[in-house]
Amino acid sequence: MSDPESTHARSEREPIPRELHSFYQDRPFVSCTRCGESLADFPDGFRISKNFKKGEVIIEYALCMPCLAGMLEEASEESKGKLAEFQEKHFRNISGFDECALCPRTREEAKNEEFGLVGVCQGDNILDSALICLDCMEAMNGVLSEETRRTWDRFRQENFPGVPSDFEPFPPRPAPKVLS
Ligand SMILES: [Zn+2]
Ligand SMILES: [Zn+2]
Repeated sequence: MSDPESTHARSEREPIPRELHSFYQDRPFVSCTRCGESLADFPDGFRISKNFKKGEVIIEYALCMPCLAGMLEEASEESKGKLAEFQEKHFRNISGFDECALCPRTREEAKNEEFGLVGVCQGDNILDSALICLDCMEAMNGVLSEETRRTWDRFRQENFPGVPSDFEPFPPRPAPKVLS
């Protein structure tokens, strides 16, 4: 019997929606933005993040789970604790791209500013998804230490040299699944 609490309990496998394909490459993501390995080779899957501003994609990346875990590991204990606390407190236990996972704002309300879409994927399938509005991204950023923000700034600078360093705070992630 499957656990009803678990998103893995979904019986049907959903393909990764076009919205989470790479806009710049015009196809699904095939390799990890950080290590370059093929995403299909990670049995634990990977996470896609895309940020939109006024309808345009301003940043997009896919991180394999080992890279994601590695980035999160670099966060200070204090930041990890505060972020987990924040997400636990605000997470609305909803998936999908219609509403912010952390506040009642809808996509319709957020569409003229920046918001992030996140998908936890495995192979060609999406297991979990979330929309995070700008206010919630900023609020999450606000609980992080300087040091932790620098880890993500470095990742951005190395991979997206043209992008201003302060435009995306901490990459949003669905909670609590990815926290565990
Ligand atoms: Zn990787
Ligand atoms: Zn929000």
